Amino acid sequence: MKLSVQPYFLEFKHPFGVSSNTRTGTPTVFVRLEEEGLYGYGEACLPAYLGETTEGTLFFLSKATSFLERSGYPQSFADFFSELDALLPGYNAAKAAIDLALHDLAGKREGRRAGELYGITDFRDRSTSMTIGIDREEVIAQKIREAADFPILKIKAGTSDDRALIAAVRKHSDKPLYVDANQGWRDKEKALELTTWMATEGVLLIEQPMPVAMREECAWLTARSPLPVIADESVKRLNDLKETEGVYSGVNIKLMKCTGLHEAVKMIRYCREHDLKILLGCMAESSCATSAMAQLAALADFIDLDAPNLIRNDPFKGLDYQDGKIVLSSLPGTGVEPLGDLFSGKIP
Ligand code: MG
Repeated sequence: MKLSVQPYFLEFKHPFGVSSNTRTGTPTVFVRLEEEGLYGYGEACLPAYLGETTEGTLFFLSKATSFLERSGYPQSFADFFSELDALLPGYNAAKAAIDLALHDLAGKREGRRAGELYGITDFRDRSTSMTIGIDREEVIAQKIREAADFPILKIKAGTSDDRALIAAVRKHSDKPLYVDANQGWRDKEKALELTTWMATEGVLLIEQPMPVAMREECAWLTARSPLPVIADESVKRLNDLKETEGVYSGVNIKLMKCTGLHEAVKMIRYCREHDLKILLGCMAESSCATSAMAQLAALADFIDLDAPNLIRNDPFKGLDYQDGKIVLSSLPGTGVEPLGDLFSGKIP
């Protein structure tokens, strides 16, 4: 299989604030796998907080090039992905890019959607939350208006006064909320108080309330919380999930953390077997990666696949949004196509 790569910068429609910083966009690297005249597309989206860079991703992909040429189209996906994973530790987003491209290619070869490769047959439209970043109240009000179609809002919290933040949101919307504290809470008693209050304010779940290192405090909170406590930064891959027993009641699975669809499906199965809630999430990525994750939407308890709505210059066409629901393309594979000649090197 022949690999092509194209670094790109995804620009946000609005600067995006979370508890630790504000960003104007996200570097990403698109990949294309070619085999027997068919193309599969993937993406390594690289928000800085994950610690992966464009340079590192290109380095991993150059290492993977000879492996891909040598392996050809794999007979066994399990063997292929364990060999790819073993090339170098880390580089999860780069591994995800290859994983997504291979699933897209596999679907195109078989004339099936990528989700069907895992036995999924239900591709109905499903509601997703829409994320509202931390901002001044008038900007939050504007973003809430722009999210009018979406039935659930995801509020980035972890501010110095999250009660005031939610109260401000409530002046402009009575929709159900997901609250993502992005590790911003430090005191378990206050976290429980806030969670208990939020449960009365139409909040449906709390994501990553405390820092990754505060496992014991988080387990204390989860045991008492009236709302599901969902891990994000604490759980990247399947092995992390196995180590969080009792600490969280669910997990936000993202392709860029877990190396792609192959491992995401394993994590979903693990969650089902261990009574953990499943949130399918995304980075601020293009519709290339988000469309791939949307293939698994039927397996989720909560869906937060809104990223393409936040981006001004998405160079892919894939899933669509109608009335706050994700609408999958009917194309085989992950259902994505680049809008222009993305891999020609003529990108501005
Ligand atoms: Mg999060």
